[in-house]
Amino acid sequence: MLKTQLTTEQLYEKLKNIKLGGQVCVYSLRKCEELVPIINEINELKEEKNAVILAHSYISPEIIYGVSDFVGDSYKLSRDALTTKATTIVFVAVRFMGETAKILNPEKEVLIPAKLDGCSLADSIDPETVQELRRQYPGYTFICYINTTAHVKALCDITVTSANVYKVVEKVPNDKIYFLPDKFMGQNLKNYADRHGIKKDIKYYSGTCYVHEDYDIEDILKVRLEYPDAKIVSHPECNTKVIDHSDFVGSTEQMLKFMRETPSKQFLMLTECGLSARLQSEFSDKQLVGSCTLCKYMKSNSLQDILRALKDPLPKDRVVLDEQTRLKAFKTIEAMFKYAES
Ligand code: SF4
Repeated sequence: MLKTQLTTEQLYEKLKNIKLGGQVCVYSLRKCEELVPIINEINELKEEKNAVILAHSYISPEIIYGVSDFVGDSYKLSRDALTTKATTIVFVAVRFMGETAKILNPEKEVLIPAKLDGCSLADSIDPETVQELRRQYPGYTFICYINTTAHVKALCDITVTSANVYKVVEKVPNDKIYFLPDKFMGQNLKNYADRHGIKKDIKYYSGTCYVHEDYDIEDILKVRLEYPDAKIVSHPECNTKVIDHSDFVGSTEQMLKFMRETPSKQFLMLTECGLSARLQSEFSDKQLVGSCTLCKYMKSNSLQDILRALKDPLPKDRVVLDEQTRLKAFKTIEAMFKYAES
């Protein structure tokens, strides 16, 4: 039995300000009362099984505020995955993120409870295509976004996240860069390099994230008319026009930092709804304007699936990587830490 159990009131306090996606992310006291027993059961099992729960900011708020031990973006979570002493990691996000945790923690059991086994961006490129690109672009340093499978990472040189991509590309001692898989991040990276006098030949692949590619400059113009003081905050997976008209561009953790530190009170968040929910829950003096988009892959995680994975994991919940692939992919992440933190 847990020493301190979460109460309905404590959960409600965290969730009461969240109002997103029609009825999907709206929490009454009654709804919290229904959620609390399963939350406490998961927290009890975590202790019993020496497990930790890593949750991406895009997943449902009841998971973030009810059962997670670490919350953040890919970069923060990959760092957190390295520090945990637990023997089991439940990665509540999408498969490539669980694979990253396994690459860093081969001796630990890594479980992914998500119902949907995909991500439009990670699925946009496969290992055969990377091999072909490497033949086409000899002499290029292949940099992959963290939103790729372990097998794709294993064929690249360096992994990056949205939090460190610019810094890493700037530091890599090669003027020829091939970035994959996101075409908008690739284009934004090229523009950034041009603006900052970084003379590199940057090529990039044509993949997209279906959540971020939907945002358009119209979304910004409408909000600017109605809320002239609102700050527009966007993710580097958005298209170039959106990026150029934003007040701040960064990873989800960097966006939260920006909101915390800026005196502005209104924000349009051009990223998945999970971050808007964190804004509503954690910054009660700040207001979200405009709408946001849900990622069906991230939102396919539920408390019920986390409980099942902890109690009695199915083969599909377990992340298994062959050692050769893991070691090659590990080197690309090691290279990221080296360039990002130097
Ligand atoms: S928002 Fe969803 S589809 Fe887009 S990159 Fe993230 S997990 Fe993949």
